[in-house]
Amino acid sequence: MRIAVVGTGYVGLVTGTCFAETGNTVTCVDIDQKKVDKLKGGTITIYEPGLDHLFLRNLKESRLHFTTNLAEGIKGAQIIFLALPTPPGEDGSADLSYVLGVSGQLGKILEAYAVIVDKSTVPVGTADKVRDAIGKNAKVEFDVVSNPEFLREGVAVDDFMKPDRVVIGTSSERAKALMQQLYAPFVRQGNPIVYMDERSAELTKYAANAFLAAKITFMNEIARMCERLDADVDMVRRGIGGDERIGKRFLFPGIGYGGSCFPKDVQALFKSAEDVDYDFRILRSVMEVNQEQKTYLVPKIKRYFGDLKGKHIALWGLAFKPNTDDIREAPALYIIEALLKEGARVTAFDPEAMENVKRVVGDKITFADNQYDALNGADALVIATEWSAFRTPDFEAMEGKLNKKVIFDGRNVFEGPQMKALGYYYESIGRRPVKP
Ligand code: NAD
Repeated sequence: MRIAVVGTGYVGLVTGTCFAETGNTVTCVDIDQKKVDKLKGGTITIYEPGLDHLFLRNLKESRLHFTTNLAEGIKGAQIIFLALPTPPGEDGSADLSYVLGVSGQLGKILEAYAVIVDKSTVPVGTADKVRDAIGKNAKVEFDVVSNPEFLREGVAVDDFMKPDRVVIGTSSERAKALMQQLYAPFVRQGNPIVYMDERSAELTKYAANAFLAAKITFMNEIARMCERLDADVDMVRRGIGGDERIGKRFLFPGIGYGGSCFPKDVQALFKSAEDVDYDFRILRSVMEVNQEQKTYLVPKIKRYFGDLKGKHIALWGLAFKPNTDDIREAPALYIIEALLKEGARVTAFDPEAMENVKRVVGDKITFADNQYDALNGADALVIATEWSAFRTPDFEAMEGKLNKKVIFDGRNVFEGPQMKALGYYYESIGRRPVKP
């Protein structure tokens, strides 16, 4: 099939590459000339494990193309995906200007029947708005489908190639048949394609993200209770995770969720509820608790030192989660801001996200070449992202670098007894502090 993907960011590039991988001819469109030039030249623009290999192969075999020209990009495409940003507007609702702007343009340039698929996360009713925006100028028939994307950054290729389920919202049999054909290679193991109406598909994506955000937040509150009641959240987590109704995943407490999706999607669903006169109380709490959680370690650090003025803090991890360079809404950024406000100095290390953070914080903090150099002369180490390389570091190489052996761990990457044996003062989330 011939496919176009409009918007070549995290979702668009993975979508385009994975559809090319199953034999389709894909053209990815983006307004960012620099990004398109790089991609055309064989340089990948995001860090996503496993993507570079597929990207290069499909580029080489001429199944993957890039352009900034929308008309050229969609020429001959049977299916056109919109993988455009839907950032929060001022009132928290999803900003649809990218999606509707491109839809308006599509109406003018469509030359033959095509299925326009919304892959962006959009509020209920957007498919109708997209249909109207295209229909205003369209001279040919078209269908609009809602096909929300559930991939997770860091494992996006795997998630896309082997999805738990594919959700397709459409009221058109013609569009359904094309979507079925396109997705057939991805659901060969029996993972379902769930067909539904467009509105339900749109809400499904928000329901999934809001549920997961609430699950994390619930555990973060249980962790706070553990600290107050002298219990250990790891034990509680294991104790409840064995219950199939609860499940083992998404039960790890930490310094809150971040990223480009959960925060904005929870906010957007909350706003959607307000718009229909519903006060979505759980989501209000989820947002409040998560906001506090991002800087939850800072009062602990302050309590330990008394005053943070002049203190030098080493920070491991900047990305909002491991295996990505994405720093959107990353807790580390909030920690940096809070520490600087308290008068501390920060030296940070992250395996992939340092360039992105440099662009945001400039020279307000320093960056280290590796995780061990970040510790040189620091008064404490703070861990904000659970990169694998932080889990079993070379503790010998760490010896003598920190002024004092003090660690505040926002991702519970170490075990208390191990830290005690190594002589560290160690605080984590929802577990008893360890004193050397
Ligand atoms: P992104 O910011 O990484 O990518 C968006 C791309 O669209 C950028 O490259 C931008 O230059 C381009 N763009 C903007 N305006 C354009 C235009 N007029 N024409 C062509 N290109 C244009 O965003 P993303 O993370 O890929 O997210 C896209 C959508 O997918 C959002 O709605 C998001 O909520 C949703 N989503 C994201 C993820 C994720 O993990 N990132 C997962 C599922 C769903």
